[in-house]
Amino acid sequence: MPENPETVLEIDLNALAHNYSVLRSRIRPGTRLLGVVKAFAYGSEAIGIARKLEALGADYLAVAYASEGVFLRKAGIRLPILVLHPQPNGMEEIIETCLEPSLYSPRILREFIKTAQAMEQKAYPVHIKFNTGLNRLGFWENDLEWIDAQLQGTDALEIRSLFSHLAASDDRNEREFTLGQLKAFEGVVKNWEQQFKSRPFYHLLNTSGVFNYPEAQYDMVRTGIGLYGYSNDPETDSLLKPVSSLRTRISQIHKIEPGEWVGYNKGYTAPDFRVTATLPIGHADGIGRQYGQGKGRVYIQGKPAPIIGNVCMDMTMVDISDISCNEGDEVVFFGDGISAEGLASRANTISYELLTGISQRVPRIITGA
Ligand SMILES: *Cc1c(COP(=O)(O)O)cnc(C)c1O
Repeated sequence: MPENPETVLEIDLNALAHNYSVLRSRIRPGTRLLGVVKAFAYGSEAIGIARKLEALGADYLAVAYASEGVFLRKAGIRLPILVLHPQPNGMEEIIETCLEPSLYSPRILREFIKTAQAMEQKAYPVHIKFNTGLNRLGFWENDLEWIDAQLQGTDALEIRSLFSHLAASDDRNEREFTLGQLKAFEGVVKNWEQQFKSRPFYHLLNTSGVFNYPEAQYDMVRTGIGLYGYSNDPETDSLLKPVSSLRTRISQIHKIEPGEWVGYNKGYTAPDFRVTATLPIGHADGIGRQYGQGKGRVYIQGKPAPIIGNVCMDMTMVDISDISCNEGDEVVFFGDGISAEGLASRANTISYELLTGISQRVPRIITGA
């Protein structure tokens, strides 16, 4: 019997360490580095990744929701954890487990003050998020006086940092727009210092920001995808090592006659004699139907095998007519020199979606600890 399960997502912590040092080398020695570990560390393995980032010397972690931070705290993670998108429901949990919320709207700021006061907090660390053009979450620049008024009446909060998020830091054609965002953020921090006579720390850049706008690194950068080995740019991708590899093994091989079909709803009709392999992985594992009909392909013996017909819930069929291989042979979706970004782009999506979509049914194996 093979040692590992057939379908596995292998998480290589040495690759993480490599990417961490590449990103560190792009920022000043005094700039903090925050590792974004939301969504199970971009679909990899949140606890293993968080522990490794802690050991590597990351200054902060970030998650999207309070529950993700609680999960890390229960695993013993001690680093400060920024919660990017807290909801009114998670606020007590945030304080109980020493997470640091992003306060991004009047409603969330008011709710958090109420909770912090009810729990008799003094100078609880929080972060204020400003919208500078993404128009997703954040206060507007002209909310400063309102924020000031809210904070006047209480000593429950301490503003630890101000931040914003770039909308197109990966897109060279949007340089003008991004420079506008940098300028807007600079305006926010200037006005803040005037209004509040305080100097929290500032952060703006995500991974592509670190590579493309290092001049705007301020006091911290927030890197997600780069730590996992992708950077939205072929040139800088070549400096990084993918952390996750998705592999499986051939379940069964079939010889298909001309005119026969394969899979649900006659998704594929053989034009001539074909050899197909059935793989034990499907859309319930995170390989969506958009990869079917020849769009996606996998690698067997280093050769591409197109996905044929419709991806099923638990299975995927590929055409191996030009590859000599056997049942039980290894199949690579990404990793091991095969880019997740490459596979994702064949189905009109991005590495982020493919990586974070690998479902919890797929066993994770951590290597390189
Ligand atoms: C997810 C996220 C990041 C990380 O972005 P990457 O492109 O993965 O580096 C940074 N900041 C915020 C606010 C985010 O939501």
